[in-house]
Amino acid sequence: MTKNKQTYLTDKKFPFCPGCGHGISINALNKALQELNYGPNDVIVVSDIGCSGLIDPLFATHTIHGLHGRSPALGLGVAMGVAQKPNKKVIAFIGDGGATIGLQHILEAARRNVDMTLIVLNNLLYGMTGGQISGLSTQKFKEIIDFEKDIPPFDLIQLAHASGSRFSVRVNAPNRIKDTLKKAIETEGFSIVEAASLCPSYGMKKMNELMEVVEHEEIFEHDRPATKIKDKPVHSLLEETPVIKPQFKSELKERKGILIAGSAGGGAQSVARFLALAGMHAGLETTMKGEYPITVGTGFSVAEVILDHQPINYTGLEKPDYFIIVTADGLSKVRNKLHNDAQIYIDEKLVDDDLKNQYPNLISVPFSKMANRKSTALAATAYVLNKTGILPVEALKEAVSSHRLKDIFLEVIEKVTQQPV
Ligand code: SF4
Repeated sequence: MTKNKQTYLTDKKFPFCPGCGHGISINALNKALQELNYGPNDVIVVSDIGCSGLIDPLFATHTIHGLHGRSPALGLGVAMGVAQKPNKKVIAFIGDGGATIGLQHILEAARRNVDMTLIVLNNLLYGMTGGQISGLSTQKFKEIIDFEKDIPPFDLIQLAHASGSRFSVRVNAPNRIKDTLKKAIETEGFSIVEAASLCPSYGMKKMNELMEVVEHEEIFEHDRPATKIKDKPVHSLLEETPVIKPQFKSELKERKGILIAGSAGGGAQSVARFLALAGMHAGLETTMKGEYPITVGTGFSVAEVILDHQPINYTGLEKPDYFIIVTADGLSKVRNKLHNDAQIYIDEKLVDDDLKNQYPNLISVPFSKMANRKSTALAATAYVLNKTGILPVEALKEAVSSHRLKDIFLEVIEKVTQQPV
């Protein structure tokens, strides 16, 4: 609810400490918008974490709140999204702490030069967390606390300008902030306004140092035109995802979890995807999850598949019903999950006396003789489907049929399933 037609602010009281400088820039922005005559619904105010991020309830415009240091990135995304809509203006706020954390996002937004304005409320410190210094704290400011006093601050305005920002200004005199903001908002392209903003709670004693910033006003302009965002049709991924119509009947009575354990490069992840897809071809709900080391070309590769007639809300597989284990890496990764209520299908080469004694019902199969290293997991999975009937083997064949190696895969499945079980 707005106070009257002219204001872009709600009736909410400013939440800042008495004397906080942030209110000056907010009121200046309100006045600038009034003079520019934007409709409140044409303005999108973006904020992030910190005292400067307390502003979203204050604005009667669209508002979006993001992660610390990310309002430039969030604003850039919104600006690209509304670029084809007439008279829309994205205005992002950030504090000097957020600007330190999200510096790359500011430079990226400047480099892209899409139409938006970033207002940096610089009080030289992190106000919300107790007055710690930021990357924009000046050396004089830091002399008082005798910390990092030899390290200069970032000159955000120069950095933004060097990155391609169309209009980059540091303004500090409160009575000039409104007109500076007006010019920034009128600029087509990226503009940045850094405004000094005193924090009485943590920075009052540092008034002189804040004045040092005040005395270093800067203004840079590029005649680089704003980047035009082309209006190209976009489709949602959901629209582009083919709908799978069930063609096979599943004899599954209740939810089953299958764990496939192999080694990197052995196809465990692909086979789990085929298995999940086969479940869909059989009209089931399915999930698939993979696990492997960061070094994807070495070590174990384990994948879990859940099949059910009911929706699967929790995708964790704490007690698999079936284990398909084809390599030593896979066995070592899942050995502590094995249990005697499960059906354990394991390559015969991996079975030792300990394993046999502990899991007397395990089923030892010469999987590695059925196919080459890359297809052993597929051969083993086809074998298990054929033996247990969890899913029709035909559904698995259908699942692999759109893969570029389908001929090889189909041959493996045929060979395995034609053997007596
Ligand atoms: S802590 Fe400082 S920046 Fe935060 S609201 Fe209070 S005066 Fe303003």
